[in-house]
Amino acid sequence: MLLPILRWPDPRLSQLCVPAVLDADLRALAADMLETMYAAPGRGLAAPQVGRLVRVFVMDVGWKTGDPTPLVFVNPELELLGTRVLGPEGCLSIPCPVTEVERNAQVRARWTDLDGVAHDAIFDGFAAICIQHEFDHLNGILTLDRLGSEARALAESEVLA
Ligand code: ZN
Repeated sequence: MLLPILRWPDPRLSQLCVPAVLDADLRALAADMLETMYAAPGRGLAAPQVGRLVRVFVMDVGWKTGDPTPLVFVNPELELLGTRVLGPEGCLSIPCPVTEVERNAQVRARWTDLDGVAHDAIFDGFAAICIQHEFDHLNGILTLDRLGSEARALAESEVLA
């Protein structure tokens, strides 16, 4: 089922999400989030973006150029690795501007999948950036929050224009 994606400045996008409980409801939510992400089209979507304030996000960084490889991150934890890099980021909840955001080039992620299996893996490249972006959503942080005040004011005026 396609879910409506909340747009900034919806206050639900700025909330701290609570740990998710692995049950049938969560599996249904994750399936709907993947369907919604592919339809958007996007490469990552976090539960608060569809109004559910639980610590879950979905990601598929390669589907636009190859076979779909959907990942569901339940209660993820991140360890930031590598150097800091500046790169462009879009967000399905912020329709207009692609903003330049500073991130770590590599992350180690630990998470549970929908079968309750624990994972521990290192990501780099676009996947590392995407994971940090989606993880931020679980803490109520948007790309706009990572900009300096001038850049933020400019980006907000573009979104609201
Ligand atoms: Zn986003």
